[in-house]
Amino acid sequence: MSDYDNQNIFAKILRGEIPNDTVFENAHTLAFRDIEPQRPTHVLVIPKGPYRTWHDFARDGSKSEHSAFVEAVAAVTDAESVESGGYRLVVNNGDDGNQEVPHVHMHVFGGANCGPMIKRQS
Ligand code: 5GP
Repeated sequence: MSDYDNQNIFAKILRGEIPNDTVFENAHTLAFRDIEPQRPTHVLVIPKGPYRTWHDFARDGSKSEHSAFVEAVAAVTDAESVESGGYRLVVNNGDDGNQEVPHVHMHVFGGANCGPMIKRQS
């Protein structure tokens, strides 16, 4: 597993040191609203384990953690009623992915059109 900074903001949220607006929680996963929502629905889904990137989570997470994560994403899209209108899942990874918080997280965007997937490079 790559280095994990246990002082990152999501680690603090997981320890209850910083409040969050929880949408869904299971044994291995927490889903909460983004502090600066970019769409009417903007929820972050994170594993509770210390994984910095998606790659770390995919490689080192257990089957139970993986299935709990998938279950949580589905529970969020159900709770937010975004399935019929559509939604977008985004995981930013590392420097080229512009990942800001070094604890893996999936963004769930919905409630309005999410625009083009990525801007063409100039
Ligand atoms: P990234 O760019 O790493 O994919 O996304 C990080 C996300 O975390 C951003 O959308 C940002 O608004 C969100 N964020 C940063 N700090 C906090 C916080 O303290 N609470 C919550 N709920 N979201 C945060």
